Formats: sequence, C-alpha cells, structure tokens
Amino acid sequence: MEESIEGARLHTAEHMFARALQEQGLNIHVRKADTYREDNIGKAYVREIISFDRIIQAEKAVNQKIGENLAVTEENFENLEDAMKKNPKLRFNEDRLDKEKQVRVVTIGQYDFSACKHRHVKQTSEIMMFAVKRISYLGGETEIEFIAGNDALLFLLQIKNEVLESAMDRHFVPEKLSEYVKNENERMIEMEREEKEILHRLLEGDSNLMVLKGVKISKFYGELNYFIKTHTERFVAITNEQQIIIIKGKDCKIDLLKIGEKLKTLGFSGSINESSINGKVNEKIIEEIDKLWKA
Ligand SMILES: [Zn+2]
Repeated sequence: MEESIEGARLHTAEHMFARALQEQGLNIHVRKADTYREDNIGKAYVREIISFDRIIQAEKAVNQKIGENLAVTEENFENLEDAMKKNPKLRFNEDRLDKEKQVRVVTIGQYDFSACKHRHVKQTSEIMMFAVKRISYLGGETEIEFIAGNDALLFLLQIKNEVLESAMDRHFVPEKLSEYVKNENERMIEMEREEKEILHRLLEGDSNLMVLKGVKISKFYGELNYFIKTHTERFVAITNEQQIIIIKGKDCKIDLLKIGEKLKTLGFSGSINESSINGKVNEKIIEEIDKLWKA
C-alpha cells in the first residue's frame, strides 16, 4: 500500500496519533485508522464524541514525538502471542490480524508498539509535521482527518495566509482571530435585533412605504408574514431601494394585481400575485409606488 515517502510519513504519524489518543486515559477506542493514498489524508474514528481540546492535545503530543526524533524499528514474530509477550503495550487491529500468522511489530521509540505491514519512516523527524485537518461528529462518533509531511506544512501555510489576508482586510491581529469572530458575531446579533426593532416600530406606525437603506430586506420575510397574519386588514411595502417586498393581509382591499400591471409599464419584472409583489426596483418605480399609496 503506502509506498511513497509521504505515505510513510502519514502512516507513521497515524501510529503516534492513535497512541496519543489512547494515552489520554479516556475510554477511547480507535475503531479504524485508515490512510488514503489518493489524497494523502488519514482518517481516524473514535467511538465517542471527544472535545476539540483533547484532539489538539493529541496533535501536540504527536508533534512533540516527531521532534524527539525517535527511532522507528521493525521486528518479526512467529505469531501474535510471541509479539505480545515482548511488547505488552502492543496495539493491533483484531479483525485485521491472523493470530497464527507471522506478525511484524513496529516500534516507535518507547512510545508506540503496533502490529503493521505498511511502510514507515526510519526516524520520526522525517515526518516533519503532523496536523489535524478536520473534525466531524457523526452519530456519536468523532471522525478526525489528519495530514503529515509536506501536506501538513502546505496546509498550515495556506491556513496561515488566509487568516493573515482576512486580518489585513479587516484590521485585526491574526493571533486574535477567534476573539475577532466572537465580537463580530455579537455585533451581527445586536444589529439584527436593532433592525427588527426598527421594522416593528415602522409596522406599528402609519407609513405605507418603509425604506431601509442598505439592509437585506429578504431576511424580514418571516416578520412581515407574521405581521400581516395578525393584521389582516393591513398591507406592508418595504424597500432598500434595490428590492421591494409588498405583502397584504387577507382582508386588505388593495388590488396588487392592478398595481403590478402599472409597475410593469415602468419596467418592473419581479413576481406579482394577489397577495404579494416582490422584485428589483429603481428610483422611478419607488416614486410611482409612493404616489399610488398617497392617492
Ligand atoms: Zn503502520
């Protein structure tokens, strides 16, 4: 299988990662750890949900062991029993191993002992770098994708540069990305809350055409529909001067089809039906609509 040096790096790192997860003293069972040759991404599955911090702790342990430049050796044993006698900490995949057959034990310093047939590096420093690439929680399991060697270095550089570029564009210190995102999220939530408050104040007033410049009005659909369901005799028209949404309640007398016909003559090409009008507008169309309400 993994014959390339990159494959050997990833595969050896996989041994260390499995050990690091087991060493955390948690009830972690590495169900399967596979290395995909095609895209050089390793995948480990853990039969429980483990936190980001714990995974990163294991990642750190692997990189530490890479830095210690441990020797990777291989030794053949007649059968599994013999192999376990010499290596009590031996890790092996039961359903992949024939107990009667010869077993090759791969030893990484005094850190990991694992039965395996694939190609490995001779010294852990050859791996250069190990990185967790993605973590997914799937039905009570944790799936962890990881990379090593050049792939890990390139991945880290790419992520670093993307963060750096975003930081330059938005004027924040790259090391404080998570703080920035947190503040940004809070700001967005606060803004949306304020916008909805303004919308409600406008709806309660007697203005027929509400102009909310620079606001994405489609996000108010839910609020508008709710309002019109509870104020069946009313209609609402809201625009950001680029798009318009007009909705009327079921007891409202306004004829939207007729209004729609008029707007079409001014170049309006959005959707028109008995209870709503929705589409792109320009200054001229908005002016006309304003006039229609006043008439
Ligand atoms: Zn191996």
